[in-house]
Amino acid sequence: MLRLDELQNNFKGKLALNEMMSKHTSFCIGGPADLYAEPNDKNDSLALLSFLQEQNISFTILGNGSNVLISDDGLRGVVINLESGMNTISYENAKHPPLEDNFVIVESGVMLNRFVDFCIQRELKGVEMLAGIPGTIGGAIRMNAGAHGGEISDFIFDVEVIREKQFQTISKEEAQFKYRSSGLRKDDVVVGARFQFPMGNKEEMIVMRKEMLKKRNATQPLDLPNSGSVFKNPKPQYAAKLIEECGIKGMRIGNAAISEKHANFIVNLGGAKANDVLSLMKLAKKTVKEKCNVDLELEVKLMGFREEELVGVYS
Ligand SMILES: Cc1cc2nc3c(=O)[nH]c(=O)nc-3n(C[C@H](O)[C@H](O)[C@H](O)COP(=O)(O)OP(=O)(O)OC[C@H]3O[C@@H](n4cnc5c(N)ncnc54)[C@H](O)[C@@H]3O)c2cc1C
Repeated sequence: MLRLDELQNNFKGKLALNEMMSKHTSFCIGGPADLYAEPNDKNDSLALLSFLQEQNISFTILGNGSNVLISDDGLRGVVINLESGMNTISYENAKHPPLEDNFVIVESGVMLNRFVDFCIQRELKGVEMLAGIPGTIGGAIRMNAGAHGGEISDFIFDVEVIREKQFQTISKEEAQFKYRSSGLRKDDVVVGARFQFPMGNKEEMIVMRKEMLKKRNATQPLDLPNSGSVFKNPKPQYAAKLIEECGIKGMRIGNAAISEKHANFIVNLGGAKANDVLSLMKLAKKTVKEKCNVDLELEVKLMGFREEELVGVYS
């Protein structure tokens, strides 16, 4: 049982009861969270997480909600949104000291586009290929977000997490980044990270960013709510190509559809239910298995579904 009055004594950020998750996901889908919290800063996050763990109350971390599908029944326990409060970004040392002294220090709520721009303005080369990914640093680190052959982990030096009720620094090696995933523990909460970059040419990076954004606009259904790529690419193949070859591009269930523009995207045509999207995910997975003998693995994180609802989506 959540002691709200007790929590309010220890917490400075925003709290809301029964907040609709559809307001916080790029899919515009998701029912109410029992309690929704936006910590003001990392100490506020630590106080909240310590309180919840002591009280044995379950929690879910949300960044910008751009890689999740949340059930229409919503989420039990507390949803902690790190997007709004933890937003600082800084550059330690000037341009010329040895590379190992040059750190970009970023808090988990910083949006990737701002991070990319910050680096470009300082001629720090490497993350411009991430332009247009609508996530936070925390979500991008958890997911090891990437595009066009690069990943956010390429430039990470270390990651700061809240683990076992304290701040801990995790080296890049320990974080064990893989394609669209990390080896961070399930309950680790990323509060920030330090990055190191080689120097680059600002004009070239601006051109690269422009090209990346143009490509996204041309190939992704950015006019409709979605959650990015639904499945990981079963390398060396592409999930979108396999789904398209199976002839289910454009397939519609309720108000959700497999995008006509990019077959690895599911779009919300307006008022789609989480179960419509889930059914399309299962359909795509089953069809690709039957016709191409490939097991697609979900990239999007499913939250708040009952076990029986998930049959057919993971295996
Ligand atoms: C139009 C579109 C295009 C996209 N293109 C790409 C792309 O090119 N490449 C790519 O990799 N992704 C892409 N994505 C997916 C998504 O934007 C990325 O995965 C992004 O990094 C997720 O960040 P987020 O803050 O939205 O995380 P969320 O969606 O809020 O969360 C994702 C997961 O990370 C966890 N999490 C979030 N913050 C933290 C934290 N601080 N600590 C611990 N765990 C946390 C959540 O619990 C959840 O499990 C795209 C999405 C959209 C909608």
